[in-house]
Parts: sequence; C-alpha cells; structure tokens
Amino acid sequence: MAKRDYYEVLGVSKGASDDEIKKAYRKLAIKYHPDKNPGDKQAEENFKEAAEAYEVLSNAQKRQQYDRFGHAGMGGAAGGGFGGGGMNMDDIFSQFGDIFGNAGFGGGGFESMFGGGGKRVRKGSDLRIKLKLNLEEVANGVEKKIKVKRHVTCKPCGGNGAKNGTELQNCQTCGGSGQVRRVQQTMLGQMVTTGTCPTCNGEGKMIKTRCEVCFGEGRVLEEEVIPIKIPAGVAEGMQLSMNGKGNVPPRGGVAGDLLIVIEEEAHEVLHRDGNNIVYELYLNFADAALGTNVEVPTIGGKARIGIEPGTQAGKILRLKGKGIREINGYNTGDQLIHVNIWTPKSLTREETEMLEKMRNAPNFAPKPSKAEKSFFEKMKDFFN
Ligand SMILES: [Zn+2]
Ligand SMILES: [Zn+2]
Repeated sequence: MAKRDYYEVLGVSKGASDDEIKKAYRKLAIKYHPDKNPGDKQAEENFKEAAEAYEVLSNAQKRQQYDRFGHAGMGGAAGGGFGGGGMNMDDIFSQFGDIFGNAGFGGGGFESMFGGGGKRVRKGSDLRIKLKLNLEEVANGVEKKIKVKRHVTCKPCGGNGAKNGTELQNCQTCGGSGQVRRVQQTMLGQMVTTGTCPTCNGEGKMIKTRCEVCFGEGRVLEEEVIPIKIPAGVAEGMQLSMNGKGNVPPRGGVAGDLLIVIEEEAHEVLHRDGNNIVYELYLNFADAALGTNVEVPTIGGKARIGIEPGTQAGKILRLKGKGIREINGYNTGDQLIHVNIWTPKSLTREETEMLEKMRNAPNFAPKPSKAEKSFFEKMKDFFN
C-alpha cells in the first residue's frame, strides 16, 4: 500500500511551523493512543502512521529531505527503517518526552493520563557511514549489503547489565529516584538543591552482580550486515537514514539511526550533469563533413548514432531517456553527446599536402551568416 503524505497524515499544510506540527501530532497521539483504544488495530495503525510522520517532520534535516524527495528520500530501508513498516512502539514512546514533556495539558502530562504508557525511553547514538556508488548504480538504483559495527543489546542479560538479566535494585543513595537533595546552611538560611545522584548517575537502579558478557554495559559491539535499497537518482552528499540501525544506548533503550552518506564515484568517460549524462564525442573532420555512424558509450552499454553530413563542432545530440531517473519523480534524464572535431597534432608529408589543398578549396572556408555579412559590409572601411 502506498504511504500517505506526511503532511496529510498530520492534517497540516506544507508550510506548517514546528509548533503547528507538534500540536497536530499531540492531538492524534491522544486520539489513537493504544491505552485509549485497546485491541483496535486501525487505531494502532493510525497511531504509528502519525508517529512516523511526526518523526520526520519534526526533524529539520529529515523534513527538508522529505520535502525534496518524498518517501523515496527516507531511505527505503530494507529492514527496521521506514521502508520496513514504520516505527516500533518503543520508538514512538521515546518521542513523547519531547512532546508532552513538562508542559503537559491540564497539568497532568501524558503519563498521568495514560497510566504511565508514555514512559521516556533513552535513545542510542546515530551511526554514520559513507557509501560509494558508481554512475550505473546511481542511475538505476541498487541494493547493497553494508557491514557495520554497532552496539546491540546484550542477549544474556537482555540489556540491563545484570547477571542473567536479574532484576536491578533500587539505588541505596537516592532510593530509586535518581535525584539527591542537598541541604546547605547559608547566611540566608537553609538552601535545598536537587542534583543527579552520584552513586547511580541518575539511573535510580544499581546492578548487584554484573553480566559477564557485557560487564554491566547491557550492550555489545557486533558486526552486522545490513541490506539497504538505494533509490535511483541519489547524489553526492545526500544522506539516507535507517531508523533503529544505530547504536543501542548502555543498559537498554532504543537504538539510534544509521545514516548513509552517498559518495559518487567518477566514471571514466561519462559525466553527470543533474539528471543528464554528458559524453564528449570527438569526430574526425572528414566524418563530420561526410556524415557517418559512430558508437558511443552509455550507462551500462553503448548506442549507435548517426552523424549527419555537415555536422558542426558544438552540436549537441540527445539520447532520450538514457540519463538518470529522478529520485522522486517519473522523469528520466537524457544522455547528451557534445560533438567536438578532432584536430590532428602531427602530420605526415602526404597529409600536409592534402590539407594544403583543402585550405584553398572554395567550400572549406567558413560561410558567414547573413548578419555577419552585413556587419562586415558596414565595417568595410574600418577593416580596410
Ligand atoms: Zn542513586
Ligand atoms: Zn550483558
């Protein structure tokens, strides 16, 4: 099924401000929240759809990418990403801290409304890799398998860092709140400040016995081969993102994103100009004058083109549709063939004699245009 436009999903205009986007999403998140619609599959789908739209439109860089390239610009990730069926619930709830934050509504905030359904989940760091593509791959799109080293959840402990995943204990210093109160005597009286608990670093929980595999970190470094579909028409410097294929944070949470930065490899003889492919063709002078057939390289092949008698240098021939497919459209660029005339640099005596004859042949002199003729006529005195 085709994805709906993100702006349409949130019911906002293309020029909507960040605030309007946030408000629209908040409304939908409340309407379709699973706690409010238990067992309602359609509501769940709507909830996920809205979250995905918000995830993109609330991020300046992703929004810009989406505005330019639509859904195709969102990576078409083969697994885990947008292309793989949207975000999971943990991802969605991890957004809520930003949206429902402290401002809340009616003072209660999101958690109190939904019995803690909107817990804050930590997000791991993003991974960024460069991907080199040749012109053929850029023109046609390609499926690549990329190897990345990323932090994944430690299996034996399930990510909490404790031996065999045993339950964590409340921190004895802060009692599980992650915050400690300090009372200081000052000249103005007692001052109470709260700060992050130094024992648990604000996590509120402590590990009794560490997991032997991850040494308490809850994650391990693993090499993973990730399949990714690159759409046709990407360009140097473009960034595709795959949700959830970055690093998992220490001791549980949602993985960050994998960002794939496109690098274009130069082709030996073809050049890219936007969505067109340019080829510099050099013709023998006689071929240009008499006409001929020549073979030219194209992306992934070659083509035979006819050169008309009397073809001038600088003429541009066009192979329609032999360029690069537009990333988010139906158009395909062309291959442009720039005609150049090859001038020989070294000559045999025989060739020199041939050219001397040609130099004086009446038809070999350039034919001035009408405008040139009248110009020279007018300037006759000046030139003489
Ligand atoms: Zn503590
Ligand atoms: Zn572990």
